[in-house]
Amino acid sequence: MAVGVQVSPASPVVLHIAGTGRSGSTLFGSLLGQLDDCFDAGELGYLWDRGLRQEGRCGCGSQVRTCPVWREILREVFGPGGPGEQDVARLARFHSATSRGRDVAALWLRGRLPAEPPEYREILARLIHAAAAVSGRRVIVDSTKPVAYGRLLDELPGVELRVLHLVRDPRAVAWSWRREKTGTGPDAMRTRPVLTTSIMWNLGNLAARGSWAGDPGRYLLVRYEDLIEDPARWLRAAAALAGITDPELPLIGDSTVKMSPTHTVAGNVGRHQSGEVELRLDDEWSHALPRRDRALVEYATYPVRTWYGYGRAR
Ligand SMILES: [Zn+2]
Repeated sequence: MAVGVQVSPASPVVLHIAGTGRSGSTLFGSLLGQLDDCFDAGELGYLWDRGLRQEGRCGCGSQVRTCPVWREILREVFGPGGPGEQDVARLARFHSATSRGRDVAALWLRGRLPAEPPEYREILARLIHAAAAVSGRRVIVDSTKPVAYGRLLDELPGVELRVLHLVRDPRAVAWSWRREKTGTGPDAMRTRPVLTTSIMWNLGNLAARGSWAGDPGRYLLVRYEDLIEDPARWLRAAAALAGITDPELPLIGDSTVKMSPTHTVAGNVGRHQSGEVELRLDDEWSHALPRRDRALVEYATYPVRTWYGYGRAR
């Protein structure tokens, strides 16, 4: 594997969207990616498996492997030929070791990271530096959720971490995981039983809170529902967290956004949307989630959901 990336003079910032899956992070990442100094990489941790090994599509519509932006970034990290098949397989294995559900529990309960190889850390640091250099943007948005991965980002040499902890009503999250699957191939959105979702929701949010909430200079809690209601306010706050002052927002009016294609390597199917997109709260769960499932989620996520204002049943 070739070594030798140009390190940009100012340390790049990783704006990490933490929390649990199906909380609206793809949308939040795409919105942030419209800001002048931000490059939305999507769920960067899945570059190796979903993006390269499974030949997934980049947010711009090309395959990740042939997207001109990612080809250039990968060339910076691995040399002219890009990563070989064995590199990709090995890095995909490293990533999956940081993203298992039981590791989230272990991390939160014992405060310890799974031992990931130094090579993974080094490649990830180089990848972020290269993404900043190639895109010409200082802030790289990464919405890979597993908290062990976020903790790994916190240890990368020459990279500054800022954390956006995105939470969403657990009943909406449970419904998103329960309803039938959409998307195909690497973009396929799996389904999951409501009790599993509830447990993952508790653990993911507790772990993000436990890892970073004590450091307010680097952490911002954002409720998905608030983001949809007042995107300008929360985009400004997120930008300020990353050191971007007075950003030009991609909004037309209060709730319509002008979305240019992003170069996201993985995430949900919504990341391929571009043009004028109206932001609307998806509250299908409130009539579609069966009463028994709803009671189960409410019971299983109590009291954590009340800390985030999801106390009263609507
Ligand atoms: Zn692309």
